[in-house]
Amino acid sequence: MRALIIGGGIGGLTTAIALRRVGVEAVVFERAGDLRENGAGISIWTNAVKALEKIGLSDVVRSDGQDGGGQQEIGGTIRTASGRKLMALPVGALEKRFGPSVV
Ligand SMILES: Cc1cc2nc3c(=O)[nH]c(=O)nc-3n(C[C@H](O)[C@H](O)[C@H](O)COP(=O)(O)OP(=O)(O)OC[C@H]3O[C@@H](n4cnc5c(N)ncnc54)[C@H](O)[C@@H]3O)c2cc1C
Repeated sequence: MRALIIGGGIGGLTTAIALRRVGVEAVVFERAGDLRENGAGISIWTNAVKALEKIGLSDVVRSDGQDGGGQQEIGGTIRTASGRKLMALPVGALEKRFGPSVV
Protein backbone atom coordinates (compact mmCIF):
# COMPACT_ATOMS: atom_id res chain seq x y z
CA MET A 1 0.00 0.00 0.00
CA ARG A 2 1.18 3.53 -0.74
CA ALA A 3 -0.10 6.68 0.93
CA LEU A 4 0.13 10.12 -0.66
CA ILE A 5 0.13 12.90 1.94
CA ILE A 6 -0.50 16.49 0.90
CA GLY A 7 1.32 18.94 3.18
CA GLY A 8 4.57 18.56 5.11
CA GLY A 9 3.48 20.31 8.29
CA ILE A 10 3.44 18.62 11.69
CA GLY A 11 0.35 16.63 10.71
CA GLY A 12 1.66 15.41 7.37
CA LEU A 13 5.16 14.55 8.54
CA THR A 14 3.92 12.78 11.68
CA THR A 15 1.43 10.79 9.64
CA ALA A 16 4.16 9.78 7.19
CA ILE A 17 6.46 8.61 10.00
CA ALA A 18 3.63 6.69 11.68
CA LEU A 19 2.64 4.98 8.42
CA ARG A 20 6.22 4.05 7.59
CA ARG A 21 6.63 2.51 11.02
CA VAL A 22 3.77 0.12 10.26
CA GLY A 23 5.15 -0.71 6.85
CA VAL A 24 3.11 1.60 4.64
CA GLU A 25 5.06 3.54 2.05
CA ALA A 26 4.25 7.21 2.56
CA VAL A 27 5.15 10.06 0.23
CA VAL A 28 4.73 13.67 1.37
CA PHE A 29 3.97 16.44 -1.13
CA GLU A 30 4.78 19.92 0.18
CA ARG A 31 4.11 23.03 -1.87
CA ALA A 32 6.72 25.15 -0.08
CA GLY A 33 10.12 25.10 -1.76
CA ASP A 34 11.97 24.49 1.51
CA LEU A 35 11.24 23.72 5.14
CA ARG A 36 12.57 26.38 7.46
CA GLU A 37 12.05 27.92 10.88
CA ASN A 38 9.44 30.67 10.97
CA GLY A 39 10.50 32.22 14.25
CA ALA A 40 7.70 30.78 16.40
CA GLY A 41 8.09 28.34 19.23
CA ILE A 42 5.63 25.57 19.89
CA SER A 43 4.52 23.89 23.09
CA ILE A 44 3.68 20.24 22.69
CA TRP A 45 1.02 19.40 25.24
CA THR A 46 0.53 16.10 27.00
CA ASN A 47 -1.92 14.57 24.53
CA ALA A 48 0.50 15.23 21.65
CA VAL A 49 3.46 13.90 23.66
CA LYS A 50 1.49 10.69 24.25
CA ALA A 51 0.78 10.40 20.51
CA LEU A 52 4.48 10.91 19.75
CA GLU A 53 5.33 8.22 22.33
CA LYS A 54 3.14 5.75 20.44
CA ILE A 55 5.16 6.20 17.25
CA GLY A 56 8.52 6.31 19.03
CA LEU A 57 9.23 10.02 18.56
CA SER A 58 8.81 11.46 22.05
CA ASP A 59 12.45 10.94 23.09
CA VAL A 60 13.90 12.76 20.11
CA VAL A 61 11.37 15.58 20.46
CA ARG A 62 12.22 15.91 24.16
CA SER A 63 15.96 15.88 23.58
CA ASP A 64 15.78 18.34 20.66
CA GLY A 65 13.25 20.60 22.40
CA GLN A 66 14.39 23.75 24.13
CA ASP A 67 13.55 22.36 27.55
CA GLY A 68 16.31 19.77 27.37
CA GLY A 69 13.98 17.10 28.70
CA GLY A 70 11.61 18.94 30.98
CA GLN A 71 14.11 21.17 32.79
CA GLN A 72 12.62 24.49 31.76
CA GLU A 73 9.58 25.79 33.56
CA ILE A 74 6.65 26.17 31.18
CA GLY A 75 3.90 28.60 31.89
CA GLY A 76 2.47 32.00 31.22
CA THR A 77 -0.51 34.24 31.53
CA ILE A 78 -3.26 35.46 29.26
CA ARG A 79 -3.68 39.22 29.54
CA THR A 80 -5.75 42.02 28.06
CA ALA A 81 -4.09 44.58 25.74
CA SER A 82 -3.60 46.82 28.79
CA GLY A 83 -1.84 44.04 30.69
CA ARG A 84 -4.58 43.04 33.12
CA LYS A 85 -4.21 39.35 33.91
CA LEU A 86 -7.17 37.26 32.79
CA MET A 87 -5.75 33.88 33.73
CA ALA A 88 -2.54 32.03 34.49
CA LEU A 89 -1.76 28.77 32.77
CA PRO A 90 -1.40 26.17 35.53
CA VAL A 91 1.07 24.09 33.54
CA GLY A 92 2.70 22.48 36.57
CA ALA A 93 -0.67 21.29 37.84
CA LEU A 94 -1.69 20.06 34.38
CA GLU A 95 1.56 18.11 33.99
CA LYS A 96 1.12 16.56 37.43
CA ARG A 97 -2.35 15.40 36.51
CA PHE A 98 -1.92 14.41 32.85
CA GLY A 99 1.81 13.93 32.17
CA PRO A 100 4.71 15.91 30.69
CA SER A 101 4.63 18.42 27.87
CA VAL A 102 7.56 19.75 25.80
CA VAL A 103 8.46 23.33 24.86
C1 LIG B 1 2.37 31.44 15.85
C2 LIG B 1 1.79 30.06 16.12
C3 LIG B 1 2.07 29.44 17.34
C4 LIG B 1 1.53 28.16 17.60
N1 LIG B 1 1.81 27.57 18.79
C5 LIG B 1 1.36 26.34 19.05
C6 LIG B 1 1.73 25.68 20.26
O1 LIG B 1 2.46 26.19 21.08
N2 LIG B 1 1.26 24.40 20.46
C7 LIG B 1 0.44 23.77 19.55
O2 LIG B 1 0.07 22.62 19.79
N3 LIG B 1 0.08 24.39 18.40
C8 LIG B 1 0.52 25.64 18.13
N4 LIG B 1 0.16 26.27 16.97
C9 LIG B 1 -0.71 25.55 16.05
C10 LIG B 1 0.11 24.54 15.25
O3 LIG B 1 1.25 25.18 14.70
C11 LIG B 1 -0.78 23.98 14.15
O4 LIG B 1 -1.94 23.42 14.73
C12 LIG B 1 -0.05 22.91 13.37
O5 LIG B 1 1.15 23.40 12.82
C13 LIG B 1 -0.96 22.40 12.26
O6 LIG B 1 -0.24 21.41 11.59
P1 LIG B 1 -0.74 20.89 10.21
O7 LIG B 1 0.29 19.89 9.74
O8 LIG B 1 -2.15 20.41 10.32
O9 LIG B 1 -0.82 22.16 9.25
P2 LIG B 1 0.35 23.12 8.77
O10 LIG B 1 1.46 23.22 9.74
O11 LIG B 1 -0.35 24.37 8.34
O12 LIG B 1 0.93 22.38 7.51
C14 LIG B 1 0.23 22.29 6.30
C15 LIG B 1 1.28 22.17 5.21
O13 LIG B 1 0.62 21.82 4.00
C16 LIG B 1 1.19 22.57 2.95
N5 LIG B 1 0.17 22.62 1.92
C17 LIG B 1 -1.03 23.22 1.99
N6 LIG B 1 -1.71 23.04 0.84
C18 LIG B 1 -0.91 22.28 0.06
C19 LIG B 1 -1.07 21.76 -1.27
N7 LIG B 1 -2.19 21.97 -1.98
N8 LIG B 1 -0.05 21.03 -1.78
C20 LIG B 1 1.07 20.80 -1.06
N9 LIG B 1 1.28 21.28 0.19
C21 LIG B 1 0.29 22.02 0.73
C22 LIG B 1 1.54 23.91 3.57
O14 LIG B 1 2.56 24.57 2.84
C23 LIG B 1 2.04 23.47 4.95
O15 LIG B 1 3.43 23.22 4.98
C24 LIG B 1 0.69 27.53 16.66
C25 LIG B 1 0.41 28.15 15.44
C26 LIG B 1 0.96 29.42 15.17
C27 LIG B 1 0.66 30.08 13.84
